[in-house]
This record gives sequence, C-alpha cells and structure tokens, in this order.
Amino acid sequence: MSVKVRFCPSPTGLLHIGTIRTCLYNFLFAKQNNGKIVFRMEDTDKNRSTKKYAENIISGLKNLGIYSDEGIGTDKDENLYYQSNRGEIYKKYLLDLLYSGNAYFCFCTKEELDAKKENNKNNGIAYKYDGKCRPSDNQDSSEIKKYIEESEKRIKNGENATIRLKINKNERIKFNDLVRGDISFNTDDFDDFIIAKSINEPLYNFTVVIDDYEMKISHIIRGEDHITNTPKQILIYKAFNFSLPEFAHLPLILNEDKTKLSKRKNKVSVDDYLSEGYLKEAILNFLFLLGFNTPDEKEIFSLSEMIEVFNLSKVHKGGAVFDMKKLNWINSKYIRDMEFSKFLEYFKEEITFNNIDKDFLKRIAILEKERINKFSDIKDDLFLFEIFDYNIEDIINEKMGVDLNIIKTSLENSLKLINNFDIDYNLDKNIIENNLKEGFIKLINDLDLKNGQVLWPLRYVLSGVDKSPGVFELIWVLGKEESIKRINFALNLLQK
Ligand code: GLU
Repeated sequence: MSVKVRFCPSPTGLLHIGTIRTCLYNFLFAKQNNGKIVFRMEDTDKNRSTKKYAENIISGLKNLGIYSDEGIGTDKDENLYYQSNRGEIYKKYLLDLLYSGNAYFCFCTKEELDAKKENNKNNGIAYKYDGKCRPSDNQDSSEIKKYIEESEKRIKNGENATIRLKINKNERIKFNDLVRGDISFNTDDFDDFIIAKSINEPLYNFTVVIDDYEMKISHIIRGEDHITNTPKQILIYKAFNFSLPEFAHLPLILNEDKTKLSKRKNKVSVDDYLSEGYLKEAILNFLFLLGFNTPDEKEIFSLSEMIEVFNLSKVHKGGAVFDMKKLNWINSKYIRDMEFSKFLEYFKEEITFNNIDKDFLKRIAILEKERINKFSDIKDDLFLFEIFDYNIEDIINEKMGVDLNIIKTSLENSLKLINNFDIDYNLDKNIIENNLKEGFIKLINDLDLKNGQVLWPLRYVLSGVDKSPGVFELIWVLGKEESIKRINFALNLLQK
C-alpha cells in the first residue's frame, strides 16, 4: 500500500506547539515510507478561521523544515485543499448518501429536541435521537427519490432540515489503532447523528471522511482528542462502503500538572518560543521526543535522523508532559554545538548596545555560548556589557568573614594584581584563567586571608550581581581596563 498521510489543521489560531508535533509525526511517517503528506485546511468554521492563521501555520512549518507534497504549500491547486472551497464536493456525497437510503432529512426543531433532551435529563436517561424523522429501512429507490423530492419541497417552503446518518442497530465494529491497539464499539452506542446542518452545511465528521477518501489517505495520524470522532467517521465510511484507512491517535501533550496543554499554563504558539530565542531545530527535536521513546536513549536528532528512527508503533499511549526543563536542555545543547559565527549572528540580534568593542563583544559571546539555554537569557547577563548600580553593603558576608574593611583590602590588592597582569589574548582562555588563578592564590596567601574574603568581593564588583560567572572568567571577559574601571567604581562607593 502506498503511504499517504494528511495534516489538516483548523486555521483558528497561530501555529500551536501540539499541532507541530502532529504534523511532524505525519511528516516523518510519510518520509520514512516513501509516501506523501497532504496539507489541507479545515476552515469551515467561518467565524473563527482566517487566512492569516492559515498562512502562519504553513509558513511556520516550512520554517521548521516541514513541507507538504500535495495541497496547501505546494502552489498547485492549493484552493482545492481549503474545505471552504469544497462545498460542491460534499454536497454531491451528501446526495449520494441520501439517495442510497443511508441518510435522511430531519425536520425536528431545536425546541422539540431540546425538550426531549431536558425530559431525558430529568429522568436520568442519556439522550439519543429517537428516530422520529427516520424513514423506513425498506424503501426502494423510487420511494427514496420521492421522499427526497418531498423533503426538498418542504425545505424550499421554509422548513429547516438537518441531515442524519442512518445507523444500523446492534452491530459490533472493530478497528485497529496503530498506537492504541484494537478498539471496538457497538452501533447501539450511537444515535442517528447529524452529518450536515443542511445540504450546504456539512459537519466536521462528514467533511473529514470525504476529504480523506477523495485524497486517498492511507493513514490518519492525529491527536487523541479526535478518538471519539473515529467511530462516527467509521460509520460514515461504512455507509459509503469505502474501505477504511489506518488510524493512529497520538497522546495528548500535557501541562506539568497533567492537565491538557493550555495557553494559561504554557506558551503554545511556536512564534513565542522562537522570539524567546529557542532554535527551530531544538523545538522540533523536543517535540519529536514528546510521546516517543527513542532507541539507545539518544536524545539529539536532526530531521533526517528523526525520519530514520521514528516508529509509529512505539508511540506512547499515555499523555506526554511538556517539560520546559527538557526543552531548555535540548536548546542549550544546540547552542553549545552551533558554529561560533552562526551563534554570533543570533547573539547580535539580541543585543541593543551600540559602540561595543568588537573583541569585547566576541569574548562575551564566547562566554554566553556556554551559559545560556535560549537567546533571551542574554538579558539576564547584561552586567557583562556594563555595570549597574548596586549597594556595597550587599557584599558584606559574615559567614565568609567579609566586612567593609576586608572588601577594601580585597579590592585594593586585586586592583594592583590586575594592573600588573598582562592579559595576552593570543593565549587560550583556560591558560589566561589559570595564570590569574595562580596570581590570586599567591596574593591570598600573602594577605593571609581566605579565598572567599578576596574573591567574593572581587567577583561581586566585577559583575554587580550575586550570581555571575567565576571571577577569573569575568576578568578574562571584561579585560584589564574594564575590570580596573569596575573595581575603582566600587572603591568610590566605599568612600561615600
Ligand atoms: N481539523 C482538526 C484539528 O485541527 C483535525 C482533524 C483530523 O485530523 O481529523 O484538530
């Protein structure tokens, strides 16, 4: 069987992180089976669907390296893959179902149905349509034709009619879900449900079946939130006598508290992650691991490696928790492994400082490449670029034996040491740091102080904050002139 999958978002919001995972798994499955992936837009909800969202979804995926082989995004017959343009097709199939006697018009009014629902509720009975408008199962084709013509006349005269699927009684239907295994249901669990609000207004379950059939989809891979729709869709397939595609329902993505991933608890639009400085490769890699255990516990994958190792039958049944720590870790891995010149490009985009010495900027970038999880983390380290005001008393630390006198001694002696120290940037960063360390250990011994009494005040005044890189690394990054400037700034504060 040739593999053909589809990705069919509803364009009612910006590209969502869960949507990408669904699309990614479809894409990987298609590519590893030399198959095709179709993109179509389920935009029948006219109030909520917009072209802008459709474009955001398609361009967002393209940006991540995921593209379609057919349908939207290919520049060929794109319009035919918007459900809003497929009305005539659905109508034809609806008429087919009506003429085959597998569907019928229902003239029950909303008030009538609501009253029945209310009545059932009061008696504790689950509501099911009672089949009031269901014609006899034994109509022959001329009777059916007459029935349809009469119904159409009533509609023309102003009555409203929905279209319901005729469900056979007490049939057991089985299907195999490639993730969840065998699933079966009894047709008695369903009433004659509505498949179209009118001949021109087909509903989701109906349009999906028609599109998947017409587009010759072999595998339907989608979120678990659609599993309750699957039996209804299978009943529609059966009514048409279409052969069934394979189904695979992917585990939901959950917030850390195990509720369904939501805007309130997590950012869900990929644009938010990109603008925070997450890399697209890292986002894709992270989503790939959401719901799937890779062999050998390897965790970093390029898109082509994903195509190789993805295995639909190894996708988890249980929900997949969206673990920010893991995303940060994966992103940091990509940053560490990035070529320096590329890193520098991203890095410069984050920075608003002008007139920074080129070599100084480069040193900051070298340091940050090993420090940050995402590019926006750079804003936590702005002290590298310039010193911000702080309170000298904050350096006092009784436990370490650091009082104002010790701070002064530490800074005056550190200043001398740095002044006499020749930072040769032709040497390796490590060598420079080690040489500094040697010098400071000797100084600390000579002063008969403890490490913290000298190094803590120095680290604080070089950064102006209590959490920063190590002191020797700071001196390396700031350089002699800037280090001296910052120590003098602190000595001035001490005199006030
Ligand atoms: N349009 C549906 C959604 O965005 C997908 C339907 C399906 O995959 O069958 O959730």
